[in-house]
Amino acid sequence: MSACLLGKRVRYDGGSLSLTDEIVERWRSEGRVIAVCPEVEAGMTIPRKPAEILAGDGEMVLNGEADVVEKGGDKVTEAFLAGASVALDLCNRFNIKVAVLAESSPSCGSSVIYDGSFSGRKVRGMGVTAALLRRHGVQVFNQYEIADANKAILA
Ligand code: SF4
Repeated sequence: MSACLLGKRVRYDGGSLSLTDEIVERWRSEGRVIAVCPEVEAGMTIPRKPAEILAGDGEMVLNGEADVVEKGGDKVTEAFLAGASVALDLCNRFNIKVAVLAESSPSCGSSVIYDGSFSGRKVRGMGVTAALLRRHGVQVFNQYEIADANKAILA
């Protein structure tokens, strides 16, 4: 799971997205949950500048067809790819088949992301970590799909 959903203050602005959910609490009590913040794992600071995928999505970043940029224009693509690799390594090491990642993030978004204009506009698409995990067969859900993630675990 995205660490920020578990109350870790790892977001770019130093905050979290704490999620209160009975199913997640049960997963945690069963020792099923591994927390990861791909961006922090890649060495990015807390806080850090907001970043968005420019003219593309996580799939295109994986293909070398788009970049992740910080507000101000600096490219941080390599760090985002490195963070995604850390998340994939965790999935492989712990045989994780289901991930719950924070929606809209350029790393963790799985249905929508910001459009690269830093104007608050969102577009359909995945972040870099979500795209890499899906490419390797991990089922990725967001924080609004916990029941679906639970079904996938039980399937
Ligand atoms: Fe949360 Fe993912 Fe952003 Fe880290 S990279 S703060 S886990 S959404």
